[in-house]
Amino acid sequence: MAIELPENVVVSKLDELASWCRKNSLWPMPFATACCGIELMATGASRHDLARFGAEVFRFSPRQCDLMIVAGRVVMKMLPVLQRIWQQMHEPKWCISMGACASTGGVFDTYSVVQGIDRFIPVDMYIPGCPPRPEQLIQGIIDLQDKIQLEGTIPGSEFELRTRQQRKRALVELPTVGTPSLILPR
Ligand code: SF4
Repeated sequence: MAIELPENVVVSKLDELASWCRKNSLWPMPFATACCGIELMATGASRHDLARFGAEVFRFSPRQCDLMIVAGRVVMKMLPVLQRIWQQMHEPKWCISMGACASTGGVFDTYSVVQGIDRFIPVDMYIPGCPPRPEQLIQGIIDLQDKIQLEGTIPGSEFELRTRQQRKRALVELPTVGTPSLILPR
């Protein structure tokens, strides 16, 4: 027998609901090192208004964040800092590589610039461009939200680091939280 629900009642799975809450309450950690950072700032400003997608609460403490946005080139000297901040963020966490420099080193094909941050930390979403426009970053966040929704939360699989990270490219994760050390790509 079909049950008739009132108009203001919605039925869903608990897992779907938890994932929906999680994906719409991302707290970004901005790691802006160069010109892409200006576009990142513009994304949070009133014209583009990242708040519409529930990801406007930029925090500068890694312990309060779950979304790392790397905007700009990362030099080798800065890499241990990036790794330390990534480690200090709680699981489950995600990473967006914004712009050509963060994803590949861009035009800086030189020994001192990291040729893609995915050699050292796992990246969930790449945003092309030099620099990408705020609309592209917003689209990247929406796509990431779709991935988060699919991931689910009740089975706790998001805490199984190996399972989560195997799908990502060229991952090298520091084994434990402690004194960070530079990990070289395999
Ligand atoms: S991708 Fe272009 S805009 Fe972004 S940091 Fe590199 S040079 Fe600057």
